[in-house]
Amino acid sequence: MTFLRCASKNTHLTFLKAFIFSDFSKMIEDDKMAKDPICGMEVNEKTAKYKTTHMGKTYYFCSPGCEKTFKANPQKYVKG
Ligand SMILES: [Zn+2]
Repeated sequence: MTFLRCASKNTHLTFLKAFIFSDFSKMIEDDKMAKDPICGMEVNEKTAKYKTTHMGKTYYFCSPGCEKTFKANPQKYVKG
């Protein structure tokens, strides 16, 4: 019985740690920044209003102007 109680306590602690960690990693994810390929400005992926997908990759832009420039000639700004 002592072992069972101990194991149960450990499981609870692991759950608690996982909960704290997942919350923490979510916080980091919120601040994930992408680079505007046109002007080089840092754009928050979560709040970005202007974005487009090219060759399976998502690109983020600071303004509709940058998005338009990219869409007009994506090959010029995509490397590799
Ligand atoms: Zn821009």
